[in-house]
Amino acid sequence: MNYVSTVREYGIVVDGYSTGSLQMIDRVSPASGRLVSRFVSGTAEDAAAAIAVARKAFDDGPWPRLSGLERAAILRRWADLIAEDKERLARIEVDEVGKPIRMARGDLDGVIDLFQFAASLAMQVHGETYTNLGPDKTAWVHREPVGVVGMIIPWNFPAIIYAQKVPYALAAGCTVVVKPSEFTSGTALELTRLAREAGVPDGVISVVTGFGDPVGEALVKSPDVDFVSFTGSTNVGRRIVANSAETLKRVSVELGGKSANIIFADADLDDAIDGALFGVFFNQGECCCAGTRLLVDEAIADTFVERLTARAKAMKVGSVHDDDSDVGAMISETHLNRVCSYLDKGRSEGARLLAGGDVDRSGGGLFVQPTVFDHVAPDMTIFREEIFGPVLSITRFKTTEEAVALANDTTYGLANAIWTKNFDTAHQVAPRLRSGTVWINTVVDTGPQTPFGGYKASGFGREMGQAGFEEFTNVKSVIARLGKRTPYYATKG
Ligand code: NAD
Repeated sequence: MNYVSTVREYGIVVDGYSTGSLQMIDRVSPASGRLVSRFVSGTAEDAAAAIAVARKAFDDGPWPRLSGLERAAILRRWADLIAEDKERLARIEVDEVGKPIRMARGDLDGVIDLFQFAASLAMQVHGETYTNLGPDKTAWVHREPVGVVGMIIPWNFPAIIYAQKVPYALAAGCTVVVKPSEFTSGTALELTRLAREAGVPDGVISVVTGFGDPVGEALVKSPDVDFVSFTGSTNVGRRIVANSAETLKRVSVELGGKSANIIFADADLDDAIDGALFGVFFNQGECCCAGTRLLVDEAIADTFVERLTARAKAMKVGSVHDDDSDVGAMISETHLNRVCSYLDKGRSEGARLLAGGDVDRSGGGLFVQPTVFDHVAPDMTIFREEIFGPVLSITRFKTTEEAVALANDTTYGLANAIWTKNFDTAHQVAPRLRSGTVWINTVVDTGPQTPFGGYKASGFGREMGQAGFEEFTNVKSVIARLGKRTPYYATKG
């Protein structure tokens, strides 16, 4: 198709403040090699200015003091503006991330749903009252906004992850400073511009673009930031937790994964094959909950693997602005090389390569062919480490016990999927899988109502749903004495 990207140049968004930084970050699309965006490389001073603005807006501004109905109306208006601008925003995601347009449009639909759902939560915040404390006492327990929230976002789903955090925090009454990924800051800046049009007051949202160090570090270390909501790699997550210790601020860390996709012999094979492909090749495998470890019952393995491999080979790689593109580009040359090192390890450690296994630089892009490795043993590197590319590992199992043990044989615990028509199997296996999400006959399936987050090295804290909303609140108990107090001390006067 003839879509032509224009170069977009962005500043940071901090009300009443302009950056002194002269450094810019050039974003070259990984799908075409063309310059598409330029972002300010923010400094520690920029982060400090944004934090001060957010602090003032929280301590003295109108936003935390509006009624839930008023906040909801603004969030709904914002959702409508995003819907009107959907195609343009999706094209920015395609340019900066290198993902296929079909997926970027799906992401934007998800963004709109997240905003709408968060708006509904703003109207429902409520507490508990205790009237059983005796005739002269009553107490209520309620939720307050946690305060100023620092949000650190990765590059794989820039708009979606913004929408999993920002409207939920705003619904609770918080003010926020967003640090998008240095690779893909465009949609965070564009969405924030729409916030102004929707009526979000000054100071409530700032966006400081730039690198993790200094901008992200400043957010985590600042005593004026009450909570940090981080999504990214497990290694950086560890650093976030360590850096939060000095100020003892709350953090939530949504980290990496190595999800299993378990195919039992009685599964609907058409559905399971489609799900297995979607699970691992969606967003070119740059997805935290990608079903990268396919565990298949030996009884059906040969047929299953043969059909799946044929379909993997037929997927359309590249031409990401075309409606029929299936697989997008790796985010950077460094990441492409990292994914390739796993392709080498898969081969050298003895897995059987059935499809892909190579780089594809068509159209100037950084593509990896959809890759399928069979006969992957649990001690192989590709079974154990997060690859974050379109690489599927297949391991066969004989019993349900073995399938559960293989699925849990990982340091991660983000999500797992089960494919079976037997309700007993599904019902008994789901609770035994050590992950924050389990899918049954579906995969990479999330929504605004259902909390998402990790066990083990996939992190802690939840996003979305009521639980995700509550992350942005503090619980306060107010205990009131009614009538005259009985004195504690005998002395009078
Ligand atoms: P990353 O950890 O390299 O970067 C994430 C963000 O942290 C970026 O904005 C980066 O600039 C910032 N950052 C880097 N160093 C920092 C520091 N010292 N202090 C503060 N901030 C810092 O991750 P990435 O490469 O952008 O994203 C890929 C990773 O994210 C994968 O591991 C993936 O599994 C994970 N991820 C997890 C989820 C989830 O919900 N669990 C969702 C999407 C992605």
